[in-house]
Amino acid sequence: MLVNGAVVAGKGASTAKGLRSVEEIEQIRVILQSRFEELNTEYEEAVAQNTRLRLVEIGDAAGDDQADSGSKTAERDAATSLLRTLLDRRTQAEHALHRLDEGTYGNCEGCSKPIPVERLEVFPSATSCVNCKQVRERRAS
Ligand SMILES: [Zn+2]
Repeated sequence: MLVNGAVVAGKGASTAKGLRSVEEIEQIRVILQSRFEELNTEYEEAVAQNTRLRLVEIGDAAGDDQADSGSKTAERDAATSLLRTLLDRRTQAEHALHRLDEGTYGNCEGCSKPIPVERLEVFPSATSCVNCKQVRERRAS
């Protein structure tokens, strides 16, 4: 009887601390996984696009006037920075999945409470809750 009572009390205590439920963790994992796959596809498309741009450039560089080659350089720069952005985001999503496995994902850096799933759904790489973020921004300005 006493043992059962202790177990129930223990469960209550862990809920009061605000630990994330298994359902929530699974929900976040699905969000992160699909985000990662989305970014992976986008990245591969951008790589292919980038390769095409370079091939075109090599192919007709000889016949270019200056305005033409200028706009091509801009196009290529845009493609390169898109690649970098996508790679960064993909790394972030991958990193978040690792942290989820370790059990450190989605806890606020400020108050160490779990960040609400709704927030993580919009910003999977968020490292603080809305409250702490606002406090930090107010201090910064
Ligand atoms: Zn916080």
